[in-house]
Amino acid sequence: MTGKKIVVLGGGFGGVAAARTARTLLPAEHSVTLIDRNRVTRLCGMNPMLIVGERDVRKTGRSLGQLANRGINFVESAINAIDVSGRTVSTANGTFEFDYLVVALGASYDWDAVPGSDLAYSFYDLDTARRLRRRLSRFRRGKLVISVAAPPYKCPPAPFETAMMIHWYLRRHGIRKDSKIIVTIPEPAPMAVAGPAASARLRDDLERRDIGLRTGVGVTSVTPAAMEAGYSDGSSIAADVIVTVPVHRVPQVVAESGLTAGKPWTPVNAKTLETSATDVFAVGDVNVVPFAEGKAIPKAGVFASGQGENVAATIAARILESAPPPAYDGSGECFLAYSTTQSALVGGQFLTSEGPQVGLKPPTPSGMRSKERFEQNWRRFRI
Ligand SMILES: Cc1cc2nc3c(=O)[nH]c(=O)nc-3n(C[C@H](O)[C@H](O)[C@H](O)COP(=O)(O)OP(=O)(O)OC[C@H]3O[C@@H](n4cnc5c(N)ncnc54)[C@H](O)[C@@H]3O)c2cc1C
Repeated sequence: MTGKKIVVLGGGFGGVAAARTARTLLPAEHSVTLIDRNRVTRLCGMNPMLIVGERDVRKTGRSLGQLANRGINFVESAINAIDVSGRTVSTANGTFEFDYLVVALGASYDWDAVPGSDLAYSFYDLDTARRLRRRLSRFRRGKLVISVAAPPYKCPPAPFETAMMIHWYLRRHGIRKDSKIIVTIPEPAPMAVAGPAASARLRDDLERRDIGLRTGVGVTSVTPAAMEAGYSDGSSIAADVIVTVPVHRVPQVVAESGLTAGKPWTPVNAKTLETSATDVFAVGDVNVVPFAEGKAIPKAGVFASGQGENVAATIAARILESAPPPAYDGSGECFLAYSTTQSALVGGQFLTSEGPQVGLKPPTPSGMRSKERFEQNWRRFRI
């Protein structure tokens, strides 16, 4: 058998899991190459705690250069084009041929979709989170609004975790009574993807903490001085700190490859995560895996990672001509920290014959310990 070329695009959760698993399952004659424009990638899941000073910026990254120790070729380069029929990927540092391709390029942010949001605050990448951290360290009183633009967005619990952590921080500094926190979301209910019981519990938890919630409205604009946010129903909210969750889009290079077939995200076979092109797979935020009418598996690292592992097992089985792995089952749990010592878990299994078995487990100290372990494991490339 001649050596096969496995090329993985993107070194986030999905790409690293795919490359790591493929390397473990395949003999050395088959090459595994991972391409990312960034050598150091960041764990955005730390941002809701980072903005209140509870995470160290220096510990939010991992260097993809370390993949070489595991027998994976890492190429630091921007990916410019994916030629599905020609079986090549063009990058700023040359062209790579592939026999098997894993597209794990995540979601990109369209800040322009909400005019003025670049002047407001966010926590969806490290730079915006650091800026919000500086603002919160100066915050003494007033109104703070966290507004989501449109679904789908990464980690549906993240806006609520951020509100919970800001609530915790303001209480700790004795200024919670002088401040107001409001979360606005475009969905009809908070974290609806986890089912009605999870939504109801989260509503109660927000209410108990006096965190306001407006549903069914997406933020559409922020005034130039970033003091007022406008919403899809024509209403507006004036606030001292406006924090937005940006519109997410499929990366342009993926749209241009034809893999999305003009759809907003990359359609895949839900069982194998293979795209319309044979031996070309899409995992993580870049794809869409429906689990019910109009509903898709959330964009979260845990799902991207599970998908990367599943796809690598499929590729290994095809190369080694062995039995394929079990179908992808859509399982995973995200964290929703309520404080520095308590975290809830949200998730379960989305793809079962009885329908999704998902929910929200209450916040506990052991949930926080799991969250901390998750962060450490991520830094050590165990996830
Ligand atoms: C605030 C926040 C909190 C979160 N909390 C959690 C959590 O608690 N648990 C959880 O599971 N998930 C969480 N997530 C979601 C999680 O971060 C994403 O869902 C996850 O990173 C998706 O993984 P991915 O591999 O699909 O894409 P990504 O991790 O985004 O990786 C994509 C990679 O592709 C690279 N890339 C893109 N385009 C190009 C190009 N043209 N050329 C070269 N390289 C390119 C990027 O540099 C990037 O490294 C959170 C997200 C945010 C923003």
